[in-house]
Formats: sequence, structure tokens, C-alpha cells
Amino acid sequence: MFSRERIEIKSLDQVRVMRRAGLVVADALDAVRAAARPGMTTADLDAVAARVIAEAGARPSFLGYHGFPATVCTSVNEEVVHGIPGPRVLAAGDVVSVDCGAIVDGWHGDSAVSFVLGPDGPLAPEAAAPDPGDALLVRATEAAMWAGIAALASAQRLNEVGAAVEAAVELAGEADGAAYGIVEDYVGHGIGSAMHQPPDVVNYRVSDRGPRLRPGMCLAIEPMVSRGAGTTRVLEDDWTVVTEDASRAAHWEHTVAVLEDGITVLTARDGGAGRLGDLGVDVVVL
Ligand code: MG
Ligand code: MG
Repeated sequence: MFSRERIEIKSLDQVRVMRRAGLVVADALDAVRAAARPGMTTADLDAVAARVIAEAGARPSFLGYHGFPATVCTSVNEEVVHGIPGPRVLAAGDVVSVDCGAIVDGWHGDSAVSFVLGPDGPLAPEAAAPDPGDALLVRATEAAMWAGIAALASAQRLNEVGAAVEAAVELAGEADGAAYGIVEDYVGHGIGSAMHQPPDVVNYRVSDRGPRLRPGMCLAIEPMVSRGAGTTRVLEDDWTVVTEDASRAAHWEHTVAVLEDGITVLTARDGGAGRLGDLGVDVVVL
């Protein structure tokens, strides 16, 4: 039996504050991508995000969270999530994932992007990477996230999201000739007055249908996908999650609100209209 967890239902006014937090996160991640170059350290990326969040008058969600020492998580190559920014120097060809959260008036936004670093900055999604499989991994993971978000628009029950994510990863694997592994040890989550709330949002098919989706629910949809098996372990810093087989991994995340008239992506500047429009989903514009 699915135990009925307490899911925070937001008012429209509360969702509008979360939208402000979401836009701060979007700005921070855009600034990180604009700045990223080979030769920079992951601590340099952290400083860029910290400055954007501070200038917006917001606070980082991650700094101090269970003792996490930085504003963003930077996870490079075989690192999946929760990497700690530091002296690591980025090189062209690295797969870089940056996860960022911000708080505005007590409400959170949470989003992550991945990219292959080129000589002059992040490579465009269609550009050839030094290892073409890395670019395909990044695209497949992003597509899986958007498939999960699109499913949320019409889903009755939460498990339809994970089913859509898994189906998208399978489809991409066939198209790319790759054996992708979905990371199952970490999942998406409810979000609102705290960064991590019930319910868990898994990235794979489960028979338990999960909670019924209702207006006022806000969810972080965040698939993590590797070029290997997808099993993980945690490094001795007690934070950094790496793939057990050292295969490279990518991570994409958006915070999404379920509203009376549809969904909106709080951490996307266009509310998700562009990518979801391609999938036949209209979004609510706040
Ligand atoms: Mg996140
Ligand atoms: Mg999250």
C-alpha cells in the first residue's frame, strides 16, 4: 500500500512566489552556463551562481542544507549529483551538471542543467562533442525530463511521470544506439516551503500508482541517466554521488506547478512553453 504522505498544496499566490524563486534559479544557471570555460574551477561556477542569487535578494537553498558547503552542486563526468564545488579544474570534453536552488520569501525553486564543455563554453545541444556519446547522453536526459513534465500535464496519478521518463530514456537509447541506465538511487520530489517534500518522484515505472495529482502540487522532475548501469555509490566526502561503473552521467531538473488549468514550469523563463509546445502541451503562463 502506498502510505498517504502529507503533500503541501499551494495557493496560486504561493505558486507565484515560487515562480519568483524559480526565475532566480533560471538566471543563476544561465549565468553559470554563460561563464563556464575550460580552466575554470567548479568553485568559480559556484561563485557565479552565488552572486546572481545574492543580487536578486534571494537565498541559496543548498548552502547549509544538512551542512552542504556551497550554493550549487557541480557534478562532473562520472559524478551524478551532489558534487561539492572546489578546486577541480574543468576541461573541454567534461560533462558538467549544475544543480541550483533558491529561496524567495520562504519558497523554493530547484533546477539542474547538464552540458558538455567545449573550448569556448558549453556546447550547443546538437554540436559534436569530443565523445559524441556524451552529447547524446545530455540530450537524452533533457528529453526524458521534458517527457516527464509533459506527462504531468495530463496524468491522473504520479506514477505516470516516471513511466514517461523511462519510456523516453528507452526511446533515446534505441535512437542513439546506447544502453542508458536510469539512476534509481535518487529521485525527484515535492517542493514548496521546503526544498524536499513528499512525494518522491521516481524516474522509472512502478506499479504503485502514487498520489492523485491535484492543483497546488509542485514537483521537481529530475531524471539522472548514465551511459552505464546507473548504479551509484557515495564518495568519502559523504556528498558526491558517482556511478559505480565510472560511466558518465547527466542530470536535468525543473520545478513544475500543477494548476487548475494546466501546468507551468516555474524554473523555465517561458514556463516551459517552447519545449512542451513541441510535445503538444500548452502551459499556463503566470
Ligand atoms: Mg536540484
Ligand atoms: Mg531537486
